[in-house]
Amino acid sequence: MVVEASFVIHIPASIYQEMVAHVSAGYPNETCGALGSLDERVIKNYPTANAAEHPDDFSIISEVDIVRIYNDIDEYDGDMIYYHSHPITEAYPSARDIDWAKRSGYVYIIFSHRLHPEPPYARVFKINPQGQVTEGQIAID
Ligand SMILES: [Zn+2]
Repeated sequence: MVVEASFVIHIPASIYQEMVAHVSAGYPNETCGALGSLDERVIKNYPTANAAEHPDDFSIISEVDIVRIYNDIDEYDGDMIYYHSHPITEAYPSARDIDWAKRSGYVYIIFSHRLHPEPPYARVFKINPQGQVTEGQIAID
């Protein structure tokens, strides 16, 4: 079956490998980070600590890290993409993810360790203010 992707996020292979290493290092907790992109092309990776109270169950980037990342992305007029991992469940936004995403407006990349010890895989989503989820495609360049 061929599914027409609604949008495509391009990630350089070197950055994608860094993301996989970061979320794998955090396993079995959730791990998070941000990416800076220009025209849906990722140009910078900002791996962060997970500031959630229960990191096995949710992930949040701390206020301090968010401000630092925002300021840096501002330097090149980029957009922020949020990424995190799901240790057990599918790489699909949870109800709580949707709740946060519809307020932030970020593109979400979610990794799943569902097939652990195989490497985690990722999917990408846009979530509108009404909470509707649209899946895009990740192109590793
Ligand atoms: Zn999640």
